[in-house]
Amino acid sequence: MPHEIDLRSDTVTKPTPEMRRVMAEAEVGDDVYGEDPTVNRLEALAARRLGKEAGLFVATGTMGNQVAIMTHTQRGDEIIVESDSHIFMYEVGATAVFSGAQIRQVPGAGGVLNPSGVEAAIRENDIHAPRTSLLCLENTHNRAGGTVTPVQRMRELYGVAKRHGMAVHLDGARVFNAAVALGVDAKEIAAWTDSVQFCLSKSLAAPIGSVIVGSKDWIDRARKNRKMMGGGMRQAGIIAAAGIVALEKMVDRLAEDHENARLLAENLAEVRGLRIDMNTVQTNMVFVDVSGTGMTADQFSLAGLEYGVKFNPSDPMKVRFVTHKDVTREDVLEAVKVVRRIAGGRQ
Ligand SMILES: *Cc1c(COP(=O)(O)O)cnc(C)c1O
Repeated sequence: MPHEIDLRSDTVTKPTPEMRRVMAEAEVGDDVYGEDPTVNRLEALAARRLGKEAGLFVATGTMGNQVAIMTHTQRGDEIIVESDSHIFMYEVGATAVFSGAQIRQVPGAGGVLNPSGVEAAIRENDIHAPRTSLLCLENTHNRAGGTVTPVQRMRELYGVAKRHGMAVHLDGARVFNAAVALGVDAKEIAAWTDSVQFCLSKSLAAPIGSVIVGSKDWIDRARKNRKMMGGGMRQAGIIAAAGIVALEKMVDRLAEDHENARLLAENLAEVRGLRIDMNTVQTNMVFVDVSGTGMTADQFSLAGLEYGVKFNPSDPMKVRFVTHKDVTREDVLEAVKVVRRIAGGRQ
């Protein structure tokens, strides 16, 4: 059997040899005392890359988003998110648990929020109403297909939030994919936010970790909230070291993942029984509706497994493919063959 091709997520990427080497050799200290030079270097680098004053290394993207929400809100506040956002869909209700805030879902188009839709959802200053204190954006948007919110739209949404005295947090788990797809510096996206969370552990291939960035004062408060959640880590430089390599070496190669996703989508779109909305194929994800094959997404994914090609069901009738550094162009073409065979099987 040929080697396994894992297209379930970009979280499955393995650290590079350079990452393993710098991890072994990392200079470390106790980060709760602020004494881990490698963590400090990663946090400063992340802040610089996003054009913010300061950064905070956190264990996961979920922790980063939730520390950010907690730092921006008070109990009883309402926060606005896109209906299908990761914060609403996949963070185990954490916003209710940690921040005591309630979530207002506003539907976007292809994961992109509309300024007037957001404005209409902001509460009036009324004795009955919660205070709307935070707008959360997601760029790229995961469930919408890895879609990109353009800089101009970020700017308009930021403008709406500021007119209403609200903060803006970007769930930028894949903000570098967005920047590469738009051909801009990630700073230009982050300029229209107060805080950003981005993942080192996804397309950038580090084994663990995310960073949140924002103003110095905001990060000081976030650091305390991270400690409260149990996220004060000690010689974390061992993992931060890989994060530095991720930021310095792994961003520019994302264009290759985007090309591979497009190649995959274009080929699968030709297969009878499969449907792909090509407008959503903008970065490293491809969502495929398999209902025309007579199989469910679960059945389709299980069939892939038998051929050593892994991808995830994302809905009852949709499967998701994600390209990343451990998937080559040849792997993509091999996956196309396998998927074509599976789709053909039931016709
Ligand atoms: C993966 C992801 C997260 C959470 O990251 P974890 O490290 O898995 O907790 C948050 N937001 C988006 C959009 C994601 O894709």
